[in-house]
Amino acid sequence: MSKKVHIDEDECIGCESCVEICPDVFRFNDDTDKAEVIDEDSGGEECVEEAAASCPAECIHIDE
Ligand code: SF4
Repeated sequence: MSKKVHIDEDECIGCESCVEICPDVFRFNDDTDKAEVIDEDSGGEECVEEAAASCPAECIHIDE
C-alpha cells in the first residue's frame, strides 16, 4: 500500500473503533488515551478505509 495514514490526535476521541477494525495498523495509546498508527502498511487498504469511514471524529486521514 502506498498510501500514508495518519490520525489527527487533537480530534481523536479515543473510541477505539479503528483499533477494533484494523488492529495491525492502529493501536490504542493508554498514555494519551488516543489511537495512533503503528504500521500503515500492514492492514491493507480496505481495512484502513473502513476504519477511516467509521471514525466518529473523522480524524483518520489517508493521503493518496
Ligand atoms: Fe480516534 Fe477515530 Fe480511532 Fe476513534 S476511530 S480511536 S476517534 S482515530
